[in-house]
Formats: sequence, C-alpha cells, structure tokens
Amino acid sequence: MEQSGCGDRERFFERFKVPNVAAWDIDAIVTPLEQRVIADLDISADGTFTLHDVALALSCPLTDTDLSFMSLEGIPPVSDDEVRGFISDSYSRGILSYAGGENRYRLSDFYGRLDIFAIKEQDEWRALPEVSRNAIEGWYFDAYYDGLDWDAEGGKPTDENILTLDEALQYIEDNDGDGRQAYLTDCDCRSLKGDCEKPTLVCLSYHSGPNSYPDRGVSRPISSREAKAVVTAADRAGLVHTANPWGVCNCCNDCCYLFRARERRGSGPVWPESKHIVSLNTDTCIGCGICLGRCGFGVFDESDLSGRGKASADTSLCVGCGVCVSTCPSGALSLSDRERALQHDVAAAQQTEKRA
Ligand code: SF4
Ligand code: SF4
Repeated sequence: MEQSGCGDRERFFERFKVPNVAAWDIDAIVTPLEQRVIADLDISADGTFTLHDVALALSCPLTDTDLSFMSLEGIPPVSDDEVRGFISDSYSRGILSYAGGENRYRLSDFYGRLDIFAIKEQDEWRALPEVSRNAIEGWYFDAYYDGLDWDAEGGKPTDENILTLDEALQYIEDNDGDGRQAYLTDCDCRSLKGDCEKPTLVCLSYHSGPNSYPDRGVSRPISSREAKAVVTAADRAGLVHTANPWGVCNCCNDCCYLFRARERRGSGPVWPESKHIVSLNTDTCIGCGICLGRCGFGVFDESDLSGRGKASADTSLCVGCGVCVSTCPSGALSLSDRERALQHDVAAAQQTEKRA
C-alpha cells in the first residue's frame, strides 16, 4: 500500500470525481473520514478493492508499531466491526458499491453520492448556502444532460414515456401481476432542485438487488394499492406521470431533469415520448381558467380568457399528460392519439387548400 500522501485531498477529489463547484461544501456531503479512506484505498487495476483494503485505508497513517504488528498478524489495527460498519454506512450513503464477488467493492462518485445525499439527507442539503446549492445542482444537471446519448436510435436517449393517469395505474397493475415489488422514494429532481411546492415522495421503482436504492435503504417497499394511491395523489397535485421499464415517476417541468433536458434539447414530443395531445372544444369551454393553473407547459393563454372568455390552446406545446383534462369542469378538454390528431390536422389543411 502507498504510504506517502495519506489522506491526500487532491487524490480524493480526482478519485471521487468531485467538481470544483462542490469544493467548499464537500465536508457536508462526504465525511472527512470517507475522504481520507477514498484517497488512501489501494485500488486494483479493475477499479475494485477489498474489505482488507478498506481496513488498511482506515488505519492510515500506520505507525512502525502498526506495521510490525501487521507483518506478524497480517491484519490492520482496526476491528472487524469498525471496518464492516464503515463499509455498510458508506454503501447506504452511496460512497461505495458492491463489485460482485465476496467482499469486493468499487468507489461510487460525487454524482452518485449527491443524488442519495439530496434524497436521504434533505435537511443537510437544504442547509448548504443557496449559492452553493444552485452551483452544485447546475453542475449535476449538466452532467445528467451530457451523459444522455443523443445519438441513440430514434432520438431517444432513454426509454421514457409520458403516461396518462389511467396508463400509469395500468403500469402498476401490470407490474403487480408480474409479481414485481414496488418501492417508493423521494423524487431526486425535486429533492435537488426543490423550486416548486409539489410533493417529493412520489417516485416508484421496481428495481432491487445489489447497489439499488432499496438495497441502500433509500427506497421502501410499498403495496400495489399504495403505489396507485401515490400516483393518483400526484395527478391531483398536477404532476406528470413518466415511465421507463424500471418505474414510474411523477414530474413537474420546473425541477425534473427529464423535462428540463427535453426543453434544452428541444426533443419533444419524441423524448420523452408523448403519445397523446390535448383537444379543446371552445363551444363547451366556460372560461373558468382552471386549465391555466394545471398545465405546466404554457399551452393555455390567459389573454384569451380575459378577452373572449374562452380558453385557447397552443397544442404544439402539449406533452399529452392529461393533467388538465380531469379538472376541466365542462368537459371541454380531451386527449387524442397524437399521431391520429396530426394526420387529421394535415388532412383538414389539405381540404382547406383545395377549397381555396
Ligand atoms: S378548464 Fe375547461 S372550461 Fe375552464 S377554461 Fe379551461 S378548457 Fe375552459
Ligand atoms: S395541455 Fe397538454 S401538457 Fe398541458 S396539462 Fe393538458 S395535456 Fe398536459
């Protein structure tokens, strides 16, 4: 094991991929002991290390006496319980991960740790100065965005779809039917950004096993019935349901990384995939304005309400979530299949052209 530079800060920053924006606040996110161990670990060429390596790093700096003790016994001067306790704690905090094989681990990085920190230690995250939080969160969003494969097939860097409430409930039903356990966790986007008043305990996943959030104690198992209640309450709160093969989240457009990335990229309605689009029947609209407050995507225009006393909709901005439909008191709003609605619009435009 390397004895020089014990607890080397630069090596910790490099190994844990800590961005400069987090330098001032790093002690609140990664403890000084964790930093020291990360810096001192003897990491193999394949990126893994063992329980014994952790024990050695925890013992750093070693004294001559320690070294002679080790050479006799082959064990470092920290107890087995201390080492296992450190590993268990660091695992649940997202500092290290299982690497497969008995007692083999690999380091996580700042990106992975921050997500868990913001979810599990929200008070500590919120206690950081606002300027630091904004800078760190901005870095996190850029890292997320840059990590997306924008050249992926069909322009879809991930398999994310926007669902209506009925579809989200069916998704839960299907997973339940397949015997998959649902887990509930706080939304990482809203935990990190936290710009809106919307609820955060709304993310459902069906992924478990080593290195998963349930295994790290970040999520808790819930029944299918509870999962449906979470999604229904999220819908009432005006959140948009999005799903991938591993779970359903309930998103807002101001905090959620998916929608912020969509906006930066201009990838709608391809990604996240939107299968529906809103239709407005102005004949039945009573001009109550409820839809304005429900839609987070700027589809409805306030000036028309105060002028004509009717809603107007720029459907090109619609993501097809249906959040406005369920609260429209006159039934003036409905969702249509996006593809068919577009074909219908093209046909109507051609008819008008012919007539002209
Ligand atoms: S909620 Fe319905 S009735 Fe009220 S303004 Fe919007 S479309 Fe019209
Ligand atoms: S107008 Fe479209 S994006 Fe806005 S709430 Fe309704 S369905 Fe969702």
